[in-house]
Amino acid sequence: MDAKYIFVTGGVVSSLGKGIISASLANLLQSRGYKVTIQKFDPYINIDPGTLNPYEHGECYVTIDGQETDLDLGHYERFTGIRTTRANNITTGRIYQNVIERERRGEYLGKTVQIIPHITDEIKRNMLLLGESGEYDFIITEIGGTVGDIEGQPFLESIRQLRWELPENTLCIHLAHVPYIAAAGELKTKPTQHSVKELQSLGIQPDILVLRAEHDLPRNLLNKVASFCNVNKDCVIQSPDLQSIYEVPVNMLEQGLDSQVLKQFGIDPAATKADMEPWLNFLNRRKSATRKVNIALVGKYDLQDAYKSITEAISHAGTYNDCKVVLTFENSEYITPENVAETLSKYQGVIICPGFGNRGIEGKIIAAKYCREHNVPTLGICLGMQIMAIEFARNVLGMKDANSSEMDANTPYPVIDLMEEQKAITNLGGTMRLGGYECHIVPDSHLHDAYQCDSIIERHRHRYEFNNRYHEAFEAAGMRPVGINPSNNLVEAIELTSAKWYVGVQFHPEYSSTVLKPHPLFMTFVKNALQ
Ligand code: GLN
Repeated sequence: MDAKYIFVTGGVVSSLGKGIISASLANLLQSRGYKVTIQKFDPYINIDPGTLNPYEHGECYVTIDGQETDLDLGHYERFTGIRTTRANNITTGRIYQNVIERERRGEYLGKTVQIIPHITDEIKRNMLLLGESGEYDFIITEIGGTVGDIEGQPFLESIRQLRWELPENTLCIHLAHVPYIAAAGELKTKPTQHSVKELQSLGIQPDILVLRAEHDLPRNLLNKVASFCNVNKDCVIQSPDLQSIYEVPVNMLEQGLDSQVLKQFGIDPAATKADMEPWLNFLNRRKSATRKVNIALVGKYDLQDAYKSITEAISHAGTYNDCKVVLTFENSEYITPENVAETLSKYQGVIICPGFGNRGIEGKIIAAKYCREHNVPTLGICLGMQIMAIEFARNVLGMKDANSSEMDANTPYPVIDLMEEQKAITNLGGTMRLGGYECHIVPDSHLHDAYQCDSIIERHRHRYEFNNRYHEAFEAAGMRPVGINPSNNLVEAIELTSAKWYVGVQFHPEYSSTVLKPHPLFMTFVKNALQ
């Protein structure tokens, strides 16, 4: 079968959950035995979201090959278990960068380089790239932003052209919002109609509509939308708010989203059946868990999406430990020696979050000290591990004013320091230690207990490292480096030998936890918090 391309656009408002719908559809097609991948095209001009503040765009997700990407790629991986790469997230910035580099090489042979056809050709080339590998039956392409945005137009024009060039192998799904006007007690379809008109005016006729609403949409309303938008009645599907994003695939299955997609491509949906058993087991286990465990997320970004992969990884681990994790954000900016006991004593486990820069650092150090002294199961991730090292150096090794040179360039004890190869780098974008690196695990350690193996590959996103000058002093005092990068001896994990469970990792385990494969480190952390 030729690779089939499914485009997902959104209208009316942003935050409709295009990523979740794309991931759910991928999940359903996959459970029918098809090979699927998902890619996101973002209309902003940044080359990648690596330089974006989390307040702008939520978490920056990192692929195994070291691309800093949109957080939707995290959903794609968690819903499908596929490993995305650099090819799965393209921005306007990257498209322009490629075109401009080609222009400088003289490859346009004297032509005037224009949005149409040169930018759209480059977009189309990227849209088709993964499909041409022959690895996939379906390539789902989510377009960031909302129909009507000026910056999204080249992407929509590219879809229009591809739809024309490959009519049998392309399909458009459009998500729109149906608001409920409480004062009138009415659901309104006009915004949806307008956003479809906008798409049509760009030459795109959506094949399937997914309507997001906080209220149940009656059949006659769906039919009305169908007839006003030139879409088949069976192809107007509603996507209600559900208890968990992980229920969306099941809801889409019940309404036949996957069947409609197959039908539109001329594939008989009856020829395959979605095997959702493992997924349903996960959902059932999640619902039947009654035990609760309270975990604090000590960080500085007080926004839901900033630690998305961590919150998802911890919820997967909760489910597979048959408990509900109640995760509470504790802003480290407000943690002081006076209030730390009151703040943290209600938790059975603490996560010290990744981050950049000085804000909230001292509060994290105070939290780490409390957890170490009170034997609270604690997981430090990236900056979180660095904080554990700084706290230990200051309060156990007596290294007053120990710090990371990121926070204090003149610290007398740079226990966390810039790597030699980072020192000459001046560009901020894409220059950190990024992506998968091997780590050897020391036997007889908490880390080894968690992973149950001697060597792992985990993803990184940081510039600073544990300073090996202090390796022996840490080890001798009971804070043991237990994960070592075999090619350069960098410390990738430390743990307090005497503690119940106090582990810091320089890498980001959260990126690789999926619904069907919870991450061993989060599993073990939650298990220890429960005990
Ligand atoms: N700011 C730290 C560094 O660059 C940690 C980064 C992180 O937590 N992702 O090394």
